[in-house]
Amino acid sequence: MLLDGKAFSEKVKSQLKNKVDKLRKNGIVPALAVIIVGDDPASKIYVKNKKKACEEIGIYSAEYAFKSDITQEELLEFISDLNGNKEIHGILTQLPLPKHIDPLIVAESISPAKDVDCFNEINIGKISSGRAKIFPCTPAGIIELLKENNIKIEGKACTIVGRSNIVGKPLSLMLLNENATITVCHSKTENLKAFCKQADILISAVGRPGLITEDMVKEDSIVVDVGINRLSSGKLCGDVDFDKIIGKAKFITPVPGGVGPMTIAMLMKNLVILAEEFTKR
Ligand code: NAP
Repeated sequence: MLLDGKAFSEKVKSQLKNKVDKLRKNGIVPALAVIIVGDDPASKIYVKNKKKACEEIGIYSAEYAFKSDITQEELLEFISDLNGNKEIHGILTQLPLPKHIDPLIVAESISPAKDVDCFNEINIGKISSGRAKIFPCTPAGIIELLKENNIKIEGKACTIVGRSNIVGKPLSLMLLNENATITVCHSKTENLKAFCKQADILISAVGRPGLITEDMVKEDSIVVDVGINRLSSGKLCGDVDFDKIIGKAKFITPVPGGVGPMTIAMLMKNLVILAEEFTKR
């Protein structure tokens, strides 16, 4: 069966719209600042999709586009101004950034109270201590999609392939908080197949088409494909051999239409939470 992230993300967004309406009635217009540096075509599409989601639910979005020769200092100064702007509740910088700008330093420069992507070390640390109010969007989207489809996480063997700071690492912590048993694999993992094959829930977040083949997947398992890869034909695909694995897995996410739309819905959810928190200050 398909884990339909597109359909569920629409449901999440309509629930969020009610919250946005309530905030607006109380004089707060939830607002997102989106910073884009350079002219990477994929980044432009991601930013467009995020702005469209904002429009759908009544969030104001402001786009700030900079040429790729902006210095790190100039960018940090701009973010510092946004941190102090009371009309803005969330700030994100679209990745990737040009090589001369350190994404970790940029993530740390965004106030934890406006860190809508949840990349800041303080917000990541709160996941570990169980005090988090917002969560990194892709891992949060995966967990909500599993829960929406009544997939039990507690006690299950979860294998995550990929250990990036935005997907694999925070997801491992969040699934651990859900009482799953976690294995995290990466490019240095020996015998990847054995770790994948033992998984009740297998999540691939690598960015390599065809990495996860049918023989690596346990019968009746849950397969979540985070990868987004563009083939030379122009077609989008994930990391998983979807056509072969769909007959073997119990549930599988499509690409596109699985994790991607959930990521954007969770971004909207974080923004609404940050705006609600703002009203309490
Ligand atoms: P990333 O930072 O490049 O990390 C990739 C991870 O994959 C690394 O941990 C790397 O290991 C591991 N890896 C590379 N080759 C491997 C191999 N042969 N076997 C096992 N592990 C391997 O990527 P990311 O930002 O997490 O993104 C991963 C993919 O997800 C990309 O396709 C991206 O476009 C997609 N993505 C999708 C969404 C969505 O909303 N659907 C959101 C974010 C990302 P090392 O750590 O050892 O290098």
